[in-house]
Amino acid sequence: MTPSGGPPPEPGWQRLGVSQEDWQHWPWQMRERVRDARALARFVEPTDDEVAAIERLADRFHFVITPYYASLMDPEDPDCPIRRQVVPRTAEQDDPVGVADPLDEVAHSPVKNVIRVYPDRIAFCVNNECALYCRYCLRKRMVGDEEWTMKKRELEVALDWIRETAEIRDVLLTGGDPLVFSDDRLGWLLAELRTIPHVEIIRLGTRLPVTLPFRVTDDLCRLLADHHPIWVNTHFNHPRELTPEAAHACDRLTRAGIPVGNQSVLLAGINDDAVTMKQLCEGLVKLRVRPYYCYQAQLLEGTAHFRVPIERGVDVFRELRGRTSGFAIPQYVLDTPYGKVPLSHPYLRGREGDDIVVEAFDGRLWREHNPL
Ligand code: SF4
Repeated sequence: MTPSGGPPPEPGWQRLGVSQEDWQHWPWQMRERVRDARALARFVEPTDDEVAAIERLADRFHFVITPYYASLMDPEDPDCPIRRQVVPRTAEQDDPVGVADPLDEVAHSPVKNVIRVYPDRIAFCVNNECALYCRYCLRKRMVGDEEWTMKKRELEVALDWIRETAEIRDVLLTGGDPLVFSDDRLGWLLAELRTIPHVEIIRLGTRLPVTLPFRVTDDLCRLLADHHPIWVNTHFNHPRELTPEAAHACDRLTRAGIPVGNQSVLLAGINDDAVTMKQLCEGLVKLRVRPYYCYQAQLLEGTAHFRVPIERGVDVFRELRGRTSGFAIPQYVLDTPYGKVPLSHPYLRGREGDDIVVEAFDGRLWREHNPL
């Protein structure tokens, strides 16, 4: 059985008639990516709306999917949660409020592709490429766009800025996806960062354990382990993504001593219900991946059909509280230009004289004697 309860699908390489060796070779997956409706039809029959959206939106935001991720789509279900994440729909043209850069990241960049919102840490967008492009991507404005490519000289300028900014103790390598880099390029970047004494922690934000798990090779894990402390945050959104291949990639990372966390996005019709979210979070914990954040979908152009009212999100995580392990519940947050804001049900009800009144998971109130 799959995590979502269906029968195990035929492996993608068998369905496509390619060798298992090619299928598991990550450069093959990158080379053979789905880029048009005809290639998509090898996995699922595109709807008229999808064909129209692929044609109309191609120049607005890239349409690219790895064969591995495409093979997870349910051919019988046009609303399959895998498919909805990566195949365009014309609904993307219908978003009156979404903007290109809702977190004002460009204004927070002291040098190209370095985003500083907090004093001690930065997001360093080292790469503008991903293995595939998620339709709700926060960095739609830059991923896959030539203008945001980081040439080696530009990476060096950013490294110099980090070297000169002694407050920076935590560097998140993101993008795009830093694991799309070759081992050589990534190794060079990590080695440079490790020459900077005040950089204590290096984090990598990558979706490749989900979208191209074969990228997590033994060589890559050795390279990362050579530059500890390294942390990885990945991005699973739905229990169908918790495949044996993804589990193997996460296992390799954790065996290399790398703590792996998960950052998901709350997406309408994909994971915005407590049953799906519980399956996802409990499945992650079984892989030793810590559910870390779940983001409210941003006011990002072309994504109105993915957004969920915040009250609904609060209810989803309130339903999980007390009904699964505490560490299986991610913090539901709204990212803003001023930083992340936790969104949670108000369990702390307030003070009554010398008592604090709190609400338990099942709604019962408790008065804790707690004089000022
Ligand atoms: S993998 Fe991450 S950066 Fe790349 S398109 Fe998806 S959400 Fe955006």
